[in-house]
Amino acid sequence: MAATIKPLKIAILGGGPSSFYCASRILSRLPHSSPEGQNVQVHVYDRLWAPHGLVRYGVAPDHPEVKVSIFSTALFSYTEFILFYFIVCFVSQCLTFFGQNCTHKFNETAKDPRFRFFGNVNVGDTPSFPHALHLPLRALFPHYTHLIISNGATLPVILPQLGNASTPALSLVHWYTAHPSQPPPPRLEAMPHMTLLGHGNVSLDIARMMFSPPERLAPLDLPEHVVEKISNTSVRHISIVSRRGPAEAAFTAKELRELLTLPRAAMIPIPEELLVPPPNATRQQKRILDLLRKGSTTKTGETSYTWSLKFFRSPTKVTQHTNEYTTIEYDVNQLDAQKRAVPTGEMDMQRTHGVVGSIGYRSEPIEPAWFNGGLGRTRNVIGRVFNEENRRVQGVYSSGWASNGAKGVLATTMMDAYSVAETLLTDHFQGETNAEPPVEILNSDPRPGGPPEVEHSTARVISYDDWIRIDEEEIRRGQARKKERERMVWADVIKFLS
Ligand code: NAP
Repeated sequence: MAATIKPLKIAILGGGPSSFYCASRILSRLPHSSPEGQNVQVHVYDRLWAPHGLVRYGVAPDHPEVKVSIFSTALFSYTEFILFYFIVCFVSQCLTFFGQNCTHKFNETAKDPRFRFFGNVNVGDTPSFPHALHLPLRALFPHYTHLIISNGATLPVILPQLGNASTPALSLVHWYTAHPSQPPPPRLEAMPHMTLLGHGNVSLDIARMMFSPPERLAPLDLPEHVVEKISNTSVRHISIVSRRGPAEAAFTAKELRELLTLPRAAMIPIPEELLVPPPNATRQQKRILDLLRKGSTTKTGETSYTWSLKFFRSPTKVTQHTNEYTTIEYDVNQLDAQKRAVPTGEMDMQRTHGVVGSIGYRSEPIEPAWFNGGLGRTRNVIGRVFNEENRRVQGVYSSGWASNGAKGVLATTMMDAYSVAETLLTDHFQGETNAEPPVEILNSDPRPGGPPEVEHSTARVISYDDWIRIDEEEIRRGQARKKERERMVWADVIKFLS
């Protein structure tokens, strides 16, 4: 690294896993004891009052081991990570078995005195909560040398032809994770047949949650009203529908196996001819087709809860009928040479009682000029952000789903964040070459602290110490109810911290 030590003061927008991975990588690569490390600060801003983004508000509540296995890895190389990942998965399974929760490892990065968290602070013009402090993006510029946009992908992709007749999967996920947006509860009491559109892991998460019996749900990190609602569900069949075939399914073998082995529910067998592996099938595809061929552990006839996978169907119209049922009209598809779904001209129709769209997510723009509306993510090349004229915005980076779209598991997010952190450090210490002069908005000699609007805010800004207290209290309240934790809502937080 160059001999001149320039201050490095980074604002990360979004406090989810990608943000924490970036922060941890930067802080661990520049230890406090090193000359470079003494002039480093990382500030994380989140419009939510709680940190950890998708880990808190996206990971399925029956996957507590995922929360364990991701934040203890910041100091590892990629190869070490792979080895470590398997060890941690094993250990976390054991810990989960004994009812313990290891999410405290998440906090190690935040213990670094060069790290600060500003929760309940909404930066930019994206909509937020009335209780959040609203801060224009430009207010950050004098205070930072760098920005990393890590605000995830928080908007569901919605098919226009479905109109209001479908509920976004995100609403269900946010309902059962007690997200501050507080979406209305699903009408499970009047939904004997539910249809999930999309063959991704989010669809499988939802199906698994919907078919989990009360005794499986009760000890989990789920609000009591959610457990009660799912326990009294009327849902008896879930159709999970996609536009392509079994070999093109986006879900992974692990998540599929979990649904197939759920004792309460049976999968309707899939016709054998649909499960023939395509030429050059990958190992992952073969594994999924094998699992589908074997079917569910519980067979139809042994339970009143069933689910099915429906293939080669693109919804064209959803009609809600007054007598409470809904019809979905589909184009029947086939695959073209590029494996894209193309309509055959044939139509199909299905009756259901509730339609949930689960076909992906897009980001919200922090700054429109840095956003690719078509792709729904930041304009960037390997994490370096460019404006709409294709000019580099000096010192601005993006990571995670905000950068790459909503794809990959947490390990993918970690790898990407590490790589963005490395790019930022290399650019900072070794210089960055650009074809034309970059747009300069940040301050190479940054002002101390956060912007005055944040430091002296009348809105309640949540620090990481506040979060630790909340976290401990949620766990304590959960233990009193023999469960992982009992989540707070904003009113509880204010009362608890006052
Ligand atoms: P996803 O994996 O991208 O799946 C989206 C599904 O929607 C696919 O079946 C896709 O079909 C379909 N789709 C997309 N656009 C469509 C359209 N216009 N019309 C009809 N169907 C359409 O998305 P996700 O389930 O929301 O998951 C997001 C990411 O989070 C994924 O990377 C997932 O693996 C990850 N995740 C992981 C876990 C876990 O590790 N347990 C849990 C949840 C989520 P095509 O393939 O034809 O596009």
